[in-house]
Amino acid sequence: MIQNALVVGGGAAGTAAAILLARAGVAVDLVETTPEIGTSGSGITLQGNALRVLRDLGVLDDVLAHGYAFDEVGLRTPDGGVVAVIPDARTGGDDLPATVGMPRGDMARLLAERAAQVGVEVRTGTRVESVTAAGEVACSDGTRAVHDLVIGADGLNSGVRAQIGIDIRPEPVGMGIWRVFTTRPSSITRTDLTYGGAAYIAGWCPTGEDSLYAYLVEDAADRTGLSPGEQLATMQGLADHYGGPWAEIRERMTDPSRVNYTWFTHHLVDGPWHRGRVVLAGDAAHSCPPTLAQGAAMALEDAWVLVEELTGHDDLDTALTTYTARRRERAGAVVADSVQLARWLLDHEPPPQAGGAADVPGLMARTSALLAQRP
Ligand SMILES: Cc1cc2nc3c(=O)[nH]c(=O)nc-3n(C[C@H](O)[C@H](O)[C@H](O)COP(=O)(O)OP(=O)(O)OC[C@H]3O[C@@H](n4cnc5c(N)ncnc54)[C@H](O)[C@@H]3O)c2cc1C
Repeated sequence: MIQNALVVGGGAAGTAAAILLARAGVAVDLVETTPEIGTSGSGITLQGNALRVLRDLGVLDDVLAHGYAFDEVGLRTPDGGVVAVIPDARTGGDDLPATVGMPRGDMARLLAERAAQVGVEVRTGTRVESVTAAGEVACSDGTRAVHDLVIGADGLNSGVRAQIGIDIRPEPVGMGIWRVFTTRPSSITRTDLTYGGAAYIAGWCPTGEDSLYAYLVEDAADRTGLSPGEQLATMQGLADHYGGPWAEIRERMTDPSRVNYTWFTHHLVDGPWHRGRVVLAGDAAHSCPPTLAQGAAMALEDAWVLVEELTGHDDLDTALTTYTARRRERAGAVVADSVQLARWLLDHEPPPQAGGAADVPGLMARTSALLAQRP
């Protein structure tokens, strides 16, 4: 069993792995580039399989206190009419809500606080500059050290991934998403989705008694030249095409700093997720468009399985090889299903009853059945 580890990145994958390793008696350092964890971001949808890991990390009560739990999803037409209300699968088990929405910053802060509580040395405002497969790490604060294990949980554009020679880059899916974080109209008590209209997907997720995030998914466009005010106006313009509660959400979209635009990507590292003493977790290893809202859930599950394998094997290479074997199939299925949903939307693929292949309920049911199994 390893004695010490360095975790690169203070997102869901990094903090979760750090907490679990520290609890197993490993001396853990976590290095995060940003000066403070939990100060940015919009909202996040956490499904049962994510909540199951968060419970094991010891933060579930705080997550429930800071978030907004619900057990069904609504489907609407662009004019706001409710077409169906479907019970959401409780993929974490019957004793957990199907879904919790919460502000991203709160989730990140809770995990970072828990990490510090269990003895993780958290160094923010510090960048990992170089990593070798032998576990040698150089940081921007001048520290150089060799670690028994380095976990590259440094996100989508992982520098650790590149430095250990895993040559893959996230690829655009062809969609871009506008997100706004604002106050919650009291009528909104669950996620509702509209497929179609002026956007591919229009939806929202309550994230607390007084907050929600709403989103509109369009063809990927170059929005880099827009000022914050122009970004707000663009999202407002798209929201104008939707009825029902969108009118109220639209009125509450007033702060340009709470509007965000980003592209959907996908990738999956094929082959082992480690080289020597360095292993990848979370978005560093795989990414998917959030059409199933599973990226952070997969990151949390990665951490869970990784530490289970590390504590279950004395030999590091065996532990890391088994970790990849357990994770690649499940995370790969989620990536493939998330991309499939996006492609059906991009291609305007009709449902089976209209002669097409877009069996969205079938895909959702298959994914939920998979996620309900313990990873
Ligand atoms: C539009 C959108 C919506 C989404 N919605 C959902 C959702 O509702 N539910 C869900 O489950 N998932 C969702 N996801 C996916 C989810 O956000 C990610 O999968 C998840 O955040 C990945 O966590 P991570 O810890 O792997 O990476 P990150 O959260 O990216 O964390 C990586 C951390 O590493 C740090 N870092 C990077 N390089 C270095 C370095 N050299 N040294 C030190 N630190 C470094 C970064 O600052 C960052 O804090 C969404 C994704 C997108 C794009």
